[in-house]
Amino acid sequence: MAEYIKYVDVTKCDGCRACMVACKNWNDLPAEPEEFQGSVQSHAKVTANTWNVLSFIEHEDSKGNLDYLFRHSSCFHCSEAACVKVCPEEAMHYTDFGTVDVNSDKCVGCGYCVQNCPFDVVQLATYKDKNGKEYKKAQKCTMCVDRLEEGMQPACVTTCHTDAMEFGTKEEMLKKAEKRLSEIKDKYPNAMIYNPEGVGGTHTVYVLAEKPSVYGLPEKPKVPTSAVVWKDYAQPIGKMMLGATSMALVGAFVSNKLFNKEGKGHEEDGGGSHE
Ligand code: SF4
Ligand code: SF4
Ligand code: SF4
Repeated sequence: MAEYIKYVDVTKCDGCRACMVACKNWNDLPAEPEEFQGSVQSHAKVTANTWNVLSFIEHEDSKGNLDYLFRHSSCFHCSEAACVKVCPEEAMHYTDFGTVDVNSDKCVGCGYCVQNCPFDVVQLATYKDKNGKEYKKAQKCTMCVDRLEEGMQPACVTTCHTDAMEFGTKEEMLKKAEKRLSEIKDKYPNAMIYNPEGVGGTHTVYVLAEKPSVYGLPEKPKVPTSAVVWKDYAQPIGKMMLGATSMALVGAFVSNKLFNKEGKGHEEDGGGSHE
């Protein structure tokens, strides 16, 4: 199947936040009370129950002019996704569209995906079972894979009234991005296409008006080395030598050692409790 991309042209976004509402609505995500951020931005970043956030940036350009920049931020659906590499349960997985989804039935809430995502866009939600016992599950933008499977576009894309977002084949969307970049270069000399090679390219691709750091994005994100060593070398060799069942036990131990970074706990909850 062809790979698909959500193409986001931030220069067309007017900050209306309809994409946030559409995402909540389609995915049945609860509202979250938030502290005032000192600007029109509603949430500091994505949470387990808010899968996209409209970032608002006041920026002084190279000519000293004040500009208001917006960015629809959500999962990048990396081609070489750190979350997929580190997940010991194969809960994080690639879909037929090239995007990345979480299988909640398989997720054990270990939080390694949260710790290793270079973009900080996956979080753990806390739930309660019928006996009141808490458990956690990773939550993030699914690229509305349930809609894609029915031939529909992502909810956020269909609701965008300025055409700042489009969804289509990788080839078609990358062509649009190149064309748009050439149109805006005079107005925005620092404009660029953000589709980072360090994560194999992404399936949410931006045309940015300024360099990535202005939008709070890493300039050169990459898959953490520990994740590559684990998934691409240690795990395949271990499976050959030990067999899949023994390797699952070893996997839990090694994953814990490799990915449980100090100073970045995985108890960062954005989720409400669901009885
Ligand atoms: S942006 Fe983070 S959560 Fe999304 S696919 Fe990439 S590594 Fe996974
Ligand atoms: S929390 Fe753990 S099991 Fe669940 S998706 Fe993330 S890495 Fe996989
Ligand atoms: S693609 Fe779907 S899940 Fe992802 S931000 Fe848009 S509406 Fe939300």
